[in-house]
Amino acid sequence: MAKAYKSAKRTLVIVLVAIISVTLLIVFFANNSGGALDDVYRFFGVLPQESGEDFVSFIDVGQGDSVLISSNGYNALVDTGPPESQESLIESMGELGVDDIDVLVVSHLHNDHTGGIKAVCENYSVDNLIASDLDKKSNKDTDIAKQEVLSNGGKVYTAQAGMNFTLGDFEITVIGFYPDMADENNRSIVVMAKIEDYKFLFTGDAQAKAENRLLLDGINLDCDVLKVGHHGSKTSTSEKFLKAASPQFSVISVGEGNKYNHPSASVLEDLEEESMVIRTDESGTVTFHIRNNKLSCNKEKQ
Ligand SMILES: [Zn+2]
Repeated sequence: MAKAYKSAKRTLVIVLVAIISVTLLIVFFANNSGGALDDVYRFFGVLPQESGEDFVSFIDVGQGDSVLISSNGYNALVDTGPPESQESLIESMGELGVDDIDVLVVSHLHNDHTGGIKAVCENYSVDNLIASDLDKKSNKDTDIAKQEVLSNGGKVYTAQAGMNFTLGDFEITVIGFYPDMADENNRSIVVMAKIEDYKFLFTGDAQAKAENRLLLDGINLDCDVLKVGHHGSKTSTSEKFLKAASPQFSVISVGEGNKYNHPSASVLEDLEEESMVIRTDESGTVTFHIRNNKLSCNKEKQ
């Protein structure tokens, strides 16, 4: 009996030493970084640096826009899709591991961009808001966002060209905003998100007129991933603008069989000459991961 007890005790000690060694190894590797270790994390069932992920996700919200920029657990959401996609937006955000929104950017006041604000504010705390001057012009959704942010002790910022902030490993800059323009689409806040060697350009629904202003102002539009303006409408993505942006990937956020016939065949043709085109109506939610200064693209539907 005593022998058996001793042997069990020895086994227990060996198991404990093994567990401690593995834990120490994981801690050591975690502190010495390295994305290749994700597999090690997965093997041991430890969160694969969940909070250390850097990604940009073009969420499938049907006919509208919503993009999540996430880094080290910090989240910025650019637009919230149309009202009819509120539920699926919240579901997608859950799948993407969102726990709160550090910055909400509302590109402009059309409801295919602001329609999910109510649901976002009901499900997440939103800490900061960047929008056009909401004291001058707002809608019921942006009023909700403003209220949410202020009640959290956060700040509501009126967009200005040149304003920028850091979100984890991303540097996010408002590269253009023309509130004096007549068309609400052209008053879209234009944002560039930079991480390591990669740049993501978001133009909201800006049309050729606003694109020309960006070009005239000498703004560097060069990017790797372009969120195509105004869901691929022929009123956006002028030839000059596309040359200046020269994206590797173009993402069109668009609803299947939409009544606007977006994207336009001619814009699609131009984009395909320049880049790899990905459409959310065909591919679902599209996520770009940035790991070890490498860009990879995952589509929800192949
Ligand atoms: Zn739109």
